[in-house]
Amino acid sequence: MTDNTTYDAIVIGSGITGGWAAKELTEKGLKTLVLEAGRPIVPEEDYVEHVPPWEMKFRGTRDRRRQMEDQPIQSTCYACDEWSAKFFVSDREHPYTTEPGKPFRWIRGRQVGGRSIVWGRQVYRWSDLDFEANLREGIAVDWPIRYADLAPWYDYVEDFIGITGEALGLPHLPDSKFLPPMEMNCAELVVRDAIAKHFGPERTMTIGRAAILTRDHRGRSACHYCGPCERGCITRSYFSSVNATLPAAEKTGRMTLRPYSVVHSLAFNSRTRRATSVRVIDGKSRAALEFHARAIFLCASTLESVRILLNSSTPEFPNGLANSSGELGHNLMDHVKTGGASATIPGNEERIIIGRRPNGIYVPRFRNLKTRQAGFLRGYGFEGGGQRDGWERGISQTGFGAEFKKSISQPGPWRFRFGGYGECLPNHGNYVELDQEKVDAWGIPVLKIHCAWSENELAMRKDMSISAAEMLAAAGARDIEPFADNEPPGFAIHEMGTARMGREPKTSVLNSFNQTHDVKNLFITDGGAMTSSSCVNPSLTYMALTARACDYAVQQLKKGEL
Ligand SMILES: Cc1cc2nc3c(=O)[nH]c(=O)nc-3n(C[C@H](O)[C@H](O)[C@H](O)COP(=O)(O)OP(=O)(O)OC[C@H]3O[C@@H](n4cnc5c(N)ncnc54)[C@H](O)[C@@H]3O)c2cc1C
Ligand code: SF4
Repeated sequence: MTDNTTYDAIVIGSGITGGWAAKELTEKGLKTLVLEAGRPIVPEEDYVEHVPPWEMKFRGTRDRRRQMEDQPIQSTCYACDEWSAKFFVSDREHPYTTEPGKPFRWIRGRQVGGRSIVWGRQVYRWSDLDFEANLREGIAVDWPIRYADLAPWYDYVEDFIGITGEALGLPHLPDSKFLPPMEMNCAELVVRDAIAKHFGPERTMTIGRAAILTRDHRGRSACHYCGPCERGCITRSYFSSVNATLPAAEKTGRMTLRPYSVVHSLAFNSRTRRATSVRVIDGKSRAALEFHARAIFLCASTLESVRILLNSSTPEFPNGLANSSGELGHNLMDHVKTGGASATIPGNEERIIIGRRPNGIYVPRFRNLKTRQAGFLRGYGFEGGGQRDGWERGISQTGFGAEFKKSISQPGPWRFRFGGYGECLPNHGNYVELDQEKVDAWGIPVLKIHCAWSENELAMRKDMSISAAEMLAAAGARDIEPFADNEPPGFAIHEMGTARMGREPKTSVLNSFNQTHDVKNLFITDGGAMTSSSCVNPSLTYMALTARACDYAVQQLKKGEL
């Protein structure tokens, strides 16, 4: 079936980047179709952040047998619990393959809002330390933009989404436009002050920067600290597409949002050298559909967007649409994590935590800033925080009888944990391709992912455990347990880089405005665009790049250039 409407724009995906593209394009006057593979979300029915464990069938411990059968990969993510499993894909319906001995964890959400419903909401700006790193070190290709190009778009995005945080004035972690910061608890204050005393000004600990409202903002309410944000937020206090950008697009009257629209591929006209239509499989009826537009925005997430292009080869582009460079699908990056330390912070036994602050602390990068660190390039930051052990420690603590029961009914000691997030170097050898022997539940060829950490990331992870333990020791912590666990790429859920930006069409897929070098009316604004990975959470940068790309595309459309 063909829809005869020609839309001004089609946006593929309605997650963090698709929501932004929908908002920007419609607000700038474009009649826009949003094609979303997953189901619609109705907050009043789907959000479950206030449902207590005793109302859940498995009391919050989840149906482990079903999850092992249906979500063996997704359920390795902390957020995929009995409440939120419905916001993650079925691994059976959405398979992918890897090379033996090279696992990759691909965590996905397929519904209106994508992973914006379950994300951790940590948001940090990049700086020129990041944008200039490839050029400085002669690695991969240079970014075609610098911080000054993106700074106004960070401002623009932050003004809309609302970010809580503390201004620090650090050149390598520029401040956002902040709402009031959340407060640190007493254990965190002990560690913060010890770091300032022993490592300042080299190391700093601040409260996390998060896309959560600490006061009412643009029609959304301040957070009431209920805690489990990955289950939804009926007060719309954290940013998600469903809570913020899609309603803004809807308000324009120019958005058509079509759930259950699984994009198979794009059609290309070799005469006009433009992408002309989007081929869709209806998620419920399995009917083949086709939709036309003057401009197409791929926002299906880093790997899904590439998969669509690899499935769209033509005689001119036998290795995937817009892939004259041969870089499409290559340079896959994630952040290296699972290095850090945890410990007990003595004292403050008379104090308890009130409320469930949905945010932790952050230690900005301190390696390879002014002095060269032996063993690895670039750096890492720490997330984490302090909390008081609760009665749940009775699950792991051994004991029995009245004394045991009495001891676990009292709050336990204050504990603190640092977990690193480190930059991953771009590497042509980390790539995805189509696996022609396997298809998903809609008959679409799946990805084969080839990805492994390099020595640089492994050295960084080891250093995380040492520097975290050092800081805890400086804070007088007891029982310090450093860790450097061997988790595969994908675990940070920050996959990026498979359609990188660059100055040269020969070595990159996108130009500085996220427009493919080869097909002028085709834009990719998800994490595929990233030329390097920084060490900070990436989604704020995806949002800023998307808003900037939309602005450019609308100008080009008006000039008749697309
Ligand atoms: C538990 C968790 C915690 C996270 N924490 C953070 C954090 O603190 N900070 C941070 O910066 N990032 C975080 N992330 C990562 C963040 O969620 C992603 O970077 C972000 O969602 C990417 O946005 P996106 O629009 O590219 O993709 P998504 O948000 O995943 O949206 C993609 C959309 O495209 C749709 N789609 C896919 N394929 C097709 C197709 N063929 N046809 C039609 N539609 C399609 C999907 O259904 C989905 O709705 C976290 C992720 C998870 C899972
Ligand atoms: S803790 Fe705040 S942001 Fe999270 S779900 Fe509750 S109200 Fe929403």
